[in-house]
Amino acid sequence: MPEGDTVFNHARALHDALAGATIVRSQFRIPSLATADLVGWSVVESTARGKHLLLRLRDPSGTEATLHSHLRMDGSWRTFRPGERWSGGPGHTIRIVLETPTVTAVGYHLHDIALIPTAEEHRFTGHLGPDLLGPDWDPPTAVANLAAQPERGIADALLDQRNLAGIGNMYKSEVLFLRGIGPWRPVGDVPDLLGVVTRAQRMMAAHRGRWTQSTTGSLRRGEEFYVYGRAGRPCRRCGTAIRRSDEGDYERVTFWCPSCQPE
Ligand SMILES: [Zn+2]
Repeated sequence: MPEGDTVFNHARALHDALAGATIVRSQFRIPSLATADLVGWSVVESTARGKHLLLRLRDPSGTEATLHSHLRMDGSWRTFRPGERWSGGPGHTIRIVLETPTVTAVGYHLHDIALIPTAEEHRFTGHLGPDLLGPDWDPPTAVANLAAQPERGIADALLDQRNLAGIGNMYKSEVLFLRGIGPWRPVGDVPDLLGVVTRAQRMMAAHRGRWTQSTTGSLRRGEEFYVYGRAGRPCRRCGTAIRRSDEGDYERVTFWCPSCQPE
């Protein structure tokens, strides 16, 4: 599952490459949009809402549409210059190709692709809580949303995009380690929820415009994180073996130190 900062960075890169330009060729390699044609539409902006990527378009008559996509575990948007080799992945994973006179944007492994009136974006984003990297970021509301289900485990609650939008398994695991909170501790027993969401927001915000993620400050391979991806290896603080659990669902995988993060 991508983190909100990854989606944010994809959206910004697309914006920088496409905003203001007119589409001269479009191709949708998915059945539901196989006949869609965006030639003549111009790109108004590209933005992220939580983990949802919104490419806003306008046609010459002023009609506004949004191309929605979700990156899930494996999706990406890449941009290439004309004639440049497309290097984002195997051809069969390509879902969308958008060409302007100067850039070709290629969407790989995209999910939940939809072309909708911009006024109906809420169908995809209306359920989201405050976006950690959005202009609507609002820590008290995020805390109130979390606190509304006091019995729920904190790791699970942080991942629920209805509470706050943008956290994936990496930031979830890292912020709980940094706050010394066991991932299954009930939300109602977490003493400082505001501290948790504020810390998560700071970590994510530091990755705006940065494609390499690190919460430790080190970019050396294997040293980027405190617990994420480090199952079986010694905790950086206490030496205890880091543990991993996915409870049968890889999309919810959690890493933690059982000594530093008591339940
Ligand atoms: Zn530890």
